[in-house]
Amino acid sequence: MSVQVTEISGIPLIQKGDDLPMIICANTNFVDGDIICVASTIVSKSKGYIRPLAEIIPTPNAEKIAAKIGDDPRFIQGVLDSSTDIIIEYPFILSELPFGHIGVRAGVDKSNIEGENIIFLPKDPMKEAREIREKIRQITDIDIGVIVTDTCGRAFRRGQTGNAIGWAGMTAIRDFRGDCDLFGLKLEITEEAVVDEIAAFSNFIMGESNNGIPVVKFSGCGTWKGHDSLYFTEEEDFIRKAIHI
Ligand code: GDP
Ligand code: MN
Ligand code: MN
Repeated sequence: MSVQVTEISGIPLIQKGDDLPMIICANTNFVDGDIICVASTIVSKSKGYIRPLAEIIPTPNAEKIAAKIGDDPRFIQGVLDSSTDIIIEYPFILSELPFGHIGVRAGVDKSNIEGENIIFLPKDPMKEAREIREKIRQITDIDIGVIVTDTCGRAFRRGQTGNAIGWAGMTAIRDFRGDCDLFGLKLEITEEAVVDEIAAFSNFIMGESNNGIPVVKFSGCGTWKGHDSLYFTEEEDFIRKAIHI
């Protein structure tokens, strides 16, 4: 297997209303089976998931948490507004978003955005990925996979990595259950989160600061079989249950 990974350069600073699929297609060529990772930041910019801090009025609860953490209460209010369940409040907010993702500060960002604004994760990243894929198919007549990514912290290990928060044109998980290992032992639990692995490497190409590379193309990943249940149900999530006691 040989995978080619290419940054897509030439993408401008994205504004609300910009047509991302058109912009992406104007800056690269595709073949069937290619996969692109698109930074959630530019999806949110194009859809206008941005709020000026000045327009956010913090509740007393946001003021309280902000004082404890030492952050801007308006930013904290933005995080609370994005969250359906707060898992950790201090020393940072770790919370669940409506689409199932659990992230630090609900993925709300202050970086790579002009002025005193904060940028939110797309409300429905699966829909965004489907939409980008469909539009690219209409423009090019080529079938690609799309992964919407965000840089996320993780438990137990230092350092952030790219995660998939939306995907279309592939399953999130490659399911090895039922396969045999090299010695004929049947695999019982092995499921590989392929969309996260691809998202992580795309994040390496994108960088975190001023690279200006929000889209990365993968050619040669092939296909895999599996399912889309990337997020644990509450019942399956033992770590979360342990934190919630
Ligand atoms: P996130 O991981 O989705 O939160 O996005 P980041 O803020 O880490 O940005 C990922 C990459 O996209 C970095 O290389 C940024 O410099 C780049 N980037 C962010 N916004 C824009 C934009 O509007 N236009 C371009 N060309 N690059 C951007
Ligand atoms: Mn982010
Ligand atoms: Mn990032």
